[in-house]
Amino acid sequence: MASPSDPRSYDLDALRTRGLPERGGKIDDSIPQLADADPELHAIAIALPDGELRSSAQGRVSFTLQSAVKPFLFALALLDTDGGALDRVGIEPTGEAFDAVKLESGTGRPPNPMVNAGALLTASLVSGDDPASRADRIARGLAAFAARELEVDEDVAHNEHLLGDRNHALAHLMRAEGTLTVSADDAVEVYARACATLVDAETLALMGATLALGGVNPRTGQRVVPATVARDVISVMATCGVYDGSGRWMRAVGVPAKSSVSGAIVLSAPGRLGAAVVSPPLDEQGTSVRGRVAAQALSDDLDLHSFTLR
Ligand code: GLN
Repeated sequence: MASPSDPRSYDLDALRTRGLPERGGKIDDSIPQLADADPELHAIAIALPDGELRSSAQGRVSFTLQSAVKPFLFALALLDTDGGALDRVGIEPTGEAFDAVKLESGTGRPPNPMVNAGALLTASLVSGDDPASRADRIARGLAAFAARELEVDEDVAHNEHLLGDRNHALAHLMRAEGTLTVSADDAVEVYARACATLVDAETLALMGATLALGGVNPRTGQRVVPATVARDVISVMATCGVYDGSGRWMRAVGVPAKSSVSGAIVLSAPGRLGAAVVSPPLDEQGTSVRGRVAAQALSDDLDLHSFTLR
């Protein structure tokens, strides 16, 4: 293997250009705003331990977090419950789609925090007496990971709340099992709002870096979550972050990650860096097609695979 490139001088624009001819995949059409995404959007960003942020062209183009918010919801739930969230949500991969209407057999808990059931639950566990205060707490938590205030796309939040039938079904199922303690509608509202948070590739890379660096944001120096929380979150990203494609992802890319229907993928390489890739067309498992290609090349070129002997 060629010797690894230096992340400080690695050519992210060349990596982006290499991925552009890839035309596979399909844009999510669950709500009009996602269906309207630009199929040509493609950006790659990395955030390094000294806080340096580097990105390709389009590194500051906004998109909604969607499921890339799930690791951060899990982190905030662990923080606010002092680890109690681990009793309320499983941590086993499902081998099923992200929105499968299915709970852990025997316990009625969501299978893990990276599928919709789990994220509906973790969003309900952050501190706050009502949906507005929980949404506010989530916004403040995400801002600490991002080192800036993040806006919410109100149309996306509204439509996902209104049109998320499978999420409503999951929330009602968890109510019936006694595992969700807020109302089903409140749970969907808060989760939909978190998914509608706007970021760009640079910001998402920094959020991933904060997890990769033990919970300390490398730009602000702020400890956002304890190191044990960051480790718990990254562990579950490694096993469940790419849904029923997690095994294939971990073998090929080898970096814990979370995919999303907006075509964003956040990656956390422990102790090394955070990265984000975005391109809306998705494969059958809901993973960005160009995002996967770029992530694998980034992992190969910067020698990021978790299980490479060094
Ligand atoms: N907001 C989306 C949903 O709940 C997120 C799913 C995803 O990104 N995989 O359906």
